[in-house]
Amino acid sequence: MLSCRELTEIVTDYAEGRMSFWRRLEVQFHLGMCHPCRAYLRQMRLAAQTVGQLPPEPMPPDIKAELLKRFAALSAADAAPPTSAPPETQTNRTPKS
Ligand SMILES: [Zn+2]
Repeated sequence: MLSCRELTEIVTDYAEGRMSFWRRLEVQFHLGMCHPCRAYLRQMRLAAQTVGQLPPEPMPPDIKAELLKRFAALSAADAAPPTSAPPETQTNRTPKS
């Protein structure tokens, strides 16, 4: 039977289907007996899915700049005291203009 250490070394191949029939059987046998290795496989698959959902490239600088500009505009709008706010939120606040 495979040891846990051996299994963690080949579990990626197992998850991706790059394994002979008999080797798969060995892995499945171990997984059937060994709860920690089942948990490990589950974690590994989850991580692979999560990584697969990431965008393939970093965000282009012009889009990043545009987003930052919009976020800045949003927080500026938040900072301005709304006219219909209840009085207690307007104490301690001095208009900038
Ligand atoms: Zn194990």
